[in-house]
Amino acid sequence: MCRISQASRPSVPSRALVFVLVLGVGSCDSDGGLDPSSPVRFPLDSWSMSQDFGVWNDYFEGYHLAEDARASGGTRVYALADGVVGGIFAAPEVQGYGAVMMIEHEIGGEFVTSLYGHVSARRGFQVSVGEAVSKGQLVAYIADDDEDGGPWPPHLHFGIRRGGYDIDAQICGLWLYVGYTQTCGGVTHEQYRSFWYDPSDFIRSHGG
Ligand SMILES: [Zn+2]
Repeated sequence: MCRISQASRPSVPSRALVFVLVLGVGSCDSDGGLDPSSPVRFPLDSWSMSQDFGVWNDYFEGYHLAEDARASGGTRVYALADGVVGGIFAAPEVQGYGAVMMIEHEIGGEFVTSLYGHVSARRGFQVSVGEAVSKGQLVAYIADDDEDGGPWPPHLHFGIRRGGYDIDAQICGLWLYVGYTQTCGGVTHEQYRSFWYDPSDFIRSHGG
């Protein structure tokens, strides 16, 4: 669930903000989590969610393992936190994502991997596999509609998974390809979802 940060909350809430806070709709705006004292930040300057984490999707028959944020083609994508680029895959290797990037982090003593789906190979990745990156470093651009290839507008699919990016790879194969829960290997949808964090909750819990 996306929340409005204290820093961006006005002393007298606007009608629109009250609507978001009271109803908890699956969309909110953020300043990108630019608190310099936090080890994390949102990967876009503006976070306008189009699909929340953990919701059931009938088309893909699984729970969504990320938050989708609206962004036009060419929008800059920044690293969640300091880390090392663990993988970059360009379409058509990863069906449905367009291109996808994984960055591994140690945040508060915990290893996690951030996943950036629907980024652009054509515009050029800004980092390489194995390269150390800093929080907020430009790593990629959002793919244009004609590059991504799916029946959806340009957006970022942003996930945060527990552990390094190849941990539990034996469960349902190459987990990095999966944007929705599966039930292979005797794993339930709910168990599969528990491998991943709610991205907004994770960022907020670390002060971003
Ligand atoms: Zn998504």
